[in-house]
Amino acid sequence: MTGTGGASSTVLVVGAGPVGLTAACELARQGARVRLVDALPEPTAQSRAVVVHARTQEHLAAMGVLDELAARAVEITAVEVRSGAAGTLRLRASTAGIDSRYPRALDTPQPVTEAVLAGLAARLGVAVERGVELTDLAQDEDGVDVTLASAAGTEHARVGWVVGADGGHSRVRAAVGERIEGVFHGEHFLFADVAAATTLAPDTIRLFAGADGVSGAFPMPDGRTRFLVQVPAPGSRPPGARSPGAGSAGAAVEPTLDEVQRLVDDRMGEHWRLSDPRWLVGFEIHHGQVARYRHGRVLLAGDAAHVHSPAGGQGMNTGMQDAVNLAWKLALVSTGRAGDALLDSYHAERHPVGAAVVRQTTRLTHAVATQGPRAHLRDVGLLLLGHLPAVGEAVAANMAEVRLRYRRSLVVGGGDGVRGACPGDHAPDPAGLFDAAGGPARVGDLLRRPGHLLLTTCLSRTAHERLRGVLGGLGTVVPVRPAAAPTHDGSADGPVLVDPGGVVATRYGIGHDGAALIRPDGYLGYLSARTDPVAVARHLAEREHVLVTARV
Ligand SMILES: Cc1cc2nc3c(=O)[nH]c(=O)nc-3n(C[C@H](O)[C@H](O)[C@H](O)COP(=O)(O)OP(=O)(O)OC[C@H]3O[C@@H](n4cnc5c(N)ncnc54)[C@H](O)[C@@H]3O)c2cc1C
Repeated sequence: MTGTGGASSTVLVVGAGPVGLTAACELARQGARVRLVDALPEPTAQSRAVVVHARTQEHLAAMGVLDELAARAVEITAVEVRSGAAGTLRLRASTAGIDSRYPRALDTPQPVTEAVLAGLAARLGVAVERGVELTDLAQDEDGVDVTLASAAGTEHARVGWVVGADGGHSRVRAAVGERIEGVFHGEHFLFADVAAATTLAPDTIRLFAGADGVSGAFPMPDGRTRFLVQVPAPGSRPPGARSPGAGSAGAAVEPTLDEVQRLVDDRMGEHWRLSDPRWLVGFEIHHGQVARYRHGRVLLAGDAAHVHSPAGGQGMNTGMQDAVNLAWKLALVSTGRAGDALLDSYHAERHPVGAAVVRQTTRLTHAVATQGPRAHLRDVGLLLLGHLPAVGEAVAANMAEVRLRYRRSLVVGGGDGVRGACPGDHAPDPAGLFDAAGGPARVGDLLRRPGHLLLTTCLSRTAHERLRGVLGGLGTVVPVRPAAAPTHDGSADGPVLVDPGGVVATRYGIGHDGAALIRPDGYLGYLSARTDPVAVARHLAEREHVLVTARV
């Protein structure tokens, strides 16, 4: 067991981009002592990642900031893929079928997402220390010595743990001797954040597959649109081709508004009149991932751990979900409530997710950027796929990352007698539930409580008490009953769910005497068709390495 009081229990989060902010908020919410530093004196004004997908929204809802973000975003309900010179519609994927309480994407500039998270961090007592750059670190068995440089001078501090959320050029990554393994002559993209007059509905992300690669138009609030256009690498353009305005080898260059307008017209049809550019840049994208997300007391997340094409809008979302996965584990370990073996599951669960995103976005980008007979094959393929409703649904669900699960993880378990969900799946959030007072209730709303959530369909009060004893301060036990109790049952002991239709029994597959342990990140840690406090205690101790003190 590691993690003691004082400075060595502090978690230093390096980088206050979307990933570092998410990590800091979740760490603080789950009870850790956090410090958050960022080298930049001010937050970035570049719109960068604009899409917030359904699974990320579920996490933001649990953190209590989804409504605030949604109020400052455009709601997207469909993704279109077009190709060919005429921009023929090949595939339209509606988000309506996404298995989430939030079957939509939200489009908003990255600075808005960061501002919403920074506001939450402040409310949780975590101030972003700006203009503070981590320049070095060295770890031993008990802690990490860090060097921080700022206008005030150099600070040497000792912390318990470091989260490297310091982006694609991560200093933390270099300090632990880690590197991104991958492809470093990547695709060249042009990014533009502009006002765009158009008659097209602002509820659709439009992607275009062309000989030079993928292009996309992402509606944003206030009549603005984010365009991204893949362009040939400088020097590789066919004779007579127009200037792409792209950067080279990771260096940013600024194209003009006229160049962007011409590219948008050429690639996506003349649907948008551009003006008022806020951010125009050409960039080369690399593809790759680090081999290990965990180096002892140093953990890498977000762009520090994986980089790839922005085409599917997965980078920020995957990174924020890294942070959510890591934070509850690190909160438990850094406060001495769990053994540090729990942290190995961060790499085990998230590395394959990052690898899949790198693989898929790389394949997609290569498949799209093709000419001649292969382009014809691509278009026919897209057309055929577009006529299969299941394909549209699969495209939307994959982009939304709602199919993600950790069934092979060593820290999930149980499943005996369960028919339906599996340990490692995301917890279902069905409608049709009520609170003790008869108002509508959702499992997702209960996840706003920090810690684990233990649902039990067993009606025995004694069992409830014993479960509360097992969970202790780790979370909340929520009895699920078919009808409200005649005398109010819940206010003294915590919340209850009233489930007249038996949806918990069915969706979780635990029947009417079962238990479902939901981890603080919303995934199912343990499921059983039998409510057995001893088995729950064993799961927590043996799988999650949690210190269970109660006698059951
Ligand atoms: C030009 C550009 C365009 C992009 N466009 C898109 C897009 O269209 N769609 C998409 O999905 N994604 C896009 N991305 C990627 C997306 O922005 C990232 O996936 C996302 O920002 C990842 O968040 P992060 O917090 O891991 O890293 P970042 O957002 O890069 O944040 C890292 C933070 O760490 C700080 N930092 C760095 N080094 C140190 C240090 N030594 N000490 C202290 N602080 C440090 C930085 O100042 C920064 O604030 C783009 C990225 C860039 C750079």
